[in-house]
Amino acid sequence: MTVREVEVAVVGGGIVGLCAALELAREGVDVLVLDDAARLAGTTANAGSLHVQMQSRFIRMYPDQVPGLERSLPLYVAAARRWAELERELGTSFELKASGGLMVAENAESYEFLARKCEREKRLGLTVHMLDRAELMRVAPYLGEAVVGAEFCAEEGKLNPLLANQAVRRALLAAGGALLPEARVERIERDGTAWRLEGPFGTLRAGRVLLAAGAGTGALLAPLGIQVPTVAEPLHMNVTEAAAPLIGHLVQHAERMITLKQLAAGQVVIGGGWPARLAGPRQHPTVEASSLIGNLRLASHIVPRLARLRLIRSWAGVNTTVDGQCVLGEVPGRPGLFTAVPGDAGYTLGPLVGRLAAGAVLGRRDLDFDIRPFSPGRFVGAAAPA
Ligand SMILES: Cc1cc2nc3c(=O)[nH]c(=O)nc-3n(C[C@H](O)[C@H](O)[C@H](O)COP(=O)(O)OP(=O)(O)OC[C@H]3O[C@@H](n4cnc5c(N)ncnc54)[C@H](O)[C@@H]3O)c2cc1C
Repeated sequence: MTVREVEVAVVGGGIVGLCAALELAREGVDVLVLDDAARLAGTTANAGSLHVQMQSRFIRMYPDQVPGLERSLPLYVAAARRWAELERELGTSFELKASGGLMVAENAESYEFLARKCEREKRLGLTVHMLDRAELMRVAPYLGEAVVGAEFCAEEGKLNPLLANQAVRRALLAAGGALLPEARVERIERDGTAWRLEGPFGTLRAGRVLLAAGAGTGALLAPLGIQVPTVAEPLHMNVTEAAAPLIGHLVQHAERMITLKQLAAGQVVIGGGWPARLAGPRQHPTVEASSLIGNLRLASHIVPRLARLRLIRSWAGVNTTVDGQCVLGEVPGRPGLFTAVPGDAGYTLGPLVGRLAAGAVLGRRDLDFDIRPFSPGRFVGAAAPA
């Protein structure tokens, strides 16, 4: 049996794996992306919101994660910028609009909380300011009466992930990278100075391996004694029929699970973290009726005009959570084995994390960010999750 050999194997063809592979292919590296999905173009489940400001809901729920979130903020600013650069570099539209994001509050206490968050974020370099009800009505008259004010973040925006993922995939192939769909990696083992990857596709030998497998990353690392607690979080999305231009911003709520925006073609994409479930033997992400209804009801409470639009599609996808921060860099004690799992709002981080991961794989010391705080080393020696 001949064993295929590559310089770098990337496990996972989501936005992170595709972008990392693109950077490597552009450097002339022989790179192969393996993914267990049949149509390899990265997840098409996400909503394409470019998030930058911290979510006040998370700050309240997980106060212990705030130092990590604040440490990651410059990464989000740079990530939004990287998306715009990538669109220019690839010379194709992702319908990217950096029109800013509003985090809306429904009462004075919530508004004050946002105002304190806004001050901290300003000090950390974000372009943010508060808008009271009167100011908000001038820039976002589509918001309902329940909204008393909002924090505006200029760096936020939106894009169409279906266009972006396809464009990155095409660019990767044009740069000489290769894709292997329906290739579930089941084992990774050291093989002399290289790594051996095995699965139903056969055996592959790679000089270096980048694990960009999202929620699948933890299971690949566990047999090597590294307990990265990646958790698959199934989430719900709704999209309405097309309407005339109405919502110019990315809109999210300070306390409740809602994110919405309008695509260039007029549809309004509504998400915000409503749960879906993993069903059947293949653990397929599956829509919950309660999320469909709850999400739409909340959306039309925030933007009343949405109540007039018909829902045309709902879907469920899998998000990955770890500890709110990226897991990025070489695994200590495992030369040539790297991880690239983005922190929260992982699609926003995708191209930047892909670029930083590629830099790490190439052994570059002059990365744009110090990625040491995000090292998978923080999980080496950790107990296996129960
Ligand atoms: C409904 C929904 C909406 C979202 N909306 C937004 C948003 O608006 N903005 C935002 O910033 N983020 C959003 N996210 C989060 C974002 O989608 C993810 O964080 C991001 O796509 C992660 O990209 P990734 O490349 O790291 O992982 P993924 O896209 O999960 O890709 C990992 C790939 O690895 C493959 N894989 C896993 N294990 C193996 C294995 N053993 N062998 C081979 N292949 C394997 C998987 O099939 C998958 O294709 C959303 C998520 C969901 C679910």
